[in-house]
Amino acid sequence: MFWRFFSFVCFQLAAGLAGWFLAPPGRGAMGALIGAVSGGSAWFLFDLSRGVRLLRWLRVGDASDVAVRSGLWGEVSDRARRLIRAREQMTRESQSRLQDFLAALQASPNGVVLLDSEGRIEWFNQMAGMHFGLDAQRDMLQHFANLVRDPGFAAYFASHNFLSELVMPGRESTPARPVKLSVHLHPYGEGRLLLLSRDVTAVEQAEAMRRDFVANVSHEIRTPLTVLAGFVETLQTLPLVDDERERYLALMAQQADRMQALVSDLLMLSRLEGSPSPGSFDWMPMSSLINQLEQDASALSAVLNPRSDGLHKLVFDSVTGVEIAGAPNELLSAMGNLVGNAIRYTPARGEIHVQALLLPDGRVAFSVADTGPGIAPEHIPRLTERFYRVDRSRSRDTGGTGLGLAIVKHVLQRHGAELKIDSTPGKGSVFTIIFPSSRVRMASEHALGYSV
Ligand code: ADP
Repeated sequence: MFWRFFSFVCFQLAAGLAGWFLAPPGRGAMGALIGAVSGGSAWFLFDLSRGVRLLRWLRVGDASDVAVRSGLWGEVSDRARRLIRAREQMTRESQSRLQDFLAALQASPNGVVLLDSEGRIEWFNQMAGMHFGLDAQRDMLQHFANLVRDPGFAAYFASHNFLSELVMPGRESTPARPVKLSVHLHPYGEGRLLLLSRDVTAVEQAEAMRRDFVANVSHEIRTPLTVLAGFVETLQTLPLVDDERERYLALMAQQADRMQALVSDLLMLSRLEGSPSPGSFDWMPMSSLINQLEQDASALSAVLNPRSDGLHKLVFDSVTGVEIAGAPNELLSAMGNLVGNAIRYTPARGEIHVQALLLPDGRVAFSVADTGPGIAPEHIPRLTERFYRVDRSRSRDTGGTGLGLAIVKHVLQRHGAELKIDSTPGKGSVFTIIFPSSRVRMASEHALGYSV
C-alpha cells in the first residue's frame, strides 16, 4: 500500500516538474499544477484499466491465466487465483467422494431409491431398477408412488408411518413362482425419503417350510400320543382279561416305537444339517456294507412277515475289492433306508435285488430293485421331501416316518453322490445311488480286516 501511494506521489511530482519546465516563462506554477493533475489522472486511468482487467478475468477468465502480474491488483489476482484453485480442488474431491458413495450404493445387494420431498425419484441403483422395473432415462424425477402400483405399497406410502417394513409381491411374482420384496422407507433431510428394498423370497420360503415342518412334526407325534393316551385310559378304567391287556400293551409298544423312530430320524436329520461334510479319508469295503445290509434286511423281512412262507426273496450282490470313502454310519443309514423301504413296500414273497457295481468310469452304482407297487411319475420328484408319502396308511402300517428318503438325500449330498429313481406302477421300483469316482478306490492292504 505504501509503494502504491509512493508511486502515485512520484508520478504526480514527475508530471508536475515536467509541467514546470515545459510551461512558458512566468507560468511555471500553473504548468506544475496542470502537470500534477494530468499525471494523477493518467495514473488513475492506468490503475483503473488494471482493475477492470482483473474484474473481467474474475468473471469469465481462465484460472490458469494471470490477469495482472504486479502491484496491488497483481496480488489480488494471485490470491483470487489460489482461492479458485483450492475451491476447484475441493469440488473435485467432493465429486470423487460422491462417485465413490454412489458406486458403493450401486454395489449394494439391496435396492436403494432416493426420493425428494415430493416423492419424486432423484436417484436409484440397478438393484432397485430390477425390483421395481425402473428405467434410469425414463423414470428419473417421476413420482415413485405412480410407478409402483401395488395397493399395499400405496397404503404404506400414504400412511407416513415407516416404523416397520412392508412385504409386497415382486414385479415378476406369479402364483406358481411367488416373489416377495421387503420395502422399507426411511425419512431423512428435509422431507426426503430413502427407500430400501430386498428380495426376501428365499427367507419367506424358508419360514413357510419351517412352519410346515413344525406342523408336520406335531401332527406325526400327536397321532401315536393320542392312541397311547386312549390305551392308558382303557387300562386304567376297564377290568381287562390277560389276553386283552397283552394285546393293548403290544399296540402301545408299537406306538411308542413309532414315536421313537420319528425322534431318532429327526435327530439324524438335524445332525446331518448341522455338521460338516465327512472327509474322504475313512475308507470301507463295499462288501462289508452289503453284508451288514443283508443281515438287517433278513431281520426286517422276518419281523414284517411272521409266517416263514411269506418272507421276501432277498438277493445281494457286490463287487469285491472296492472301497468307498465317507462316514460309515451315514452310508449304512442311507443304503439301509432304501433296502428297508423295498422290504416294507413290497408284498410278502416279493423279490428284492440289492447290488453294487463298479462302472467303467470309476464310479460305483449301488441299487435296490423291488417288485413292489411302484410309484407314479408325478410323485417321484417329491419323494425326498420331508414327510412326503405316496400312501400314508401303508407308510404308517409298516413303521415309516416319512423322513427316510429325506435322510438319504442329505447323506448323498454330503458325499457328493446322487440318487436316481426308476419306477413302474404295478411292477416295482429301482433306487440307485451313484458314488463319485473321487470316493471310490480299489481295495489295498490298508483296508484288509475292516468291518462296519
Ligand atoms: P416312509 O417312512 O414313509 O417310507 P420315505 O421317505 O422313506 O418315508 O419314503 C417316502 C415315500 O416314498 C413313502 O411313503 C412311499 O410312499 C414311497 N416309497 C419309498 N420307497 C418305496 C418303494 N420301494 N416302493 C414304493 N414306494 C416307495
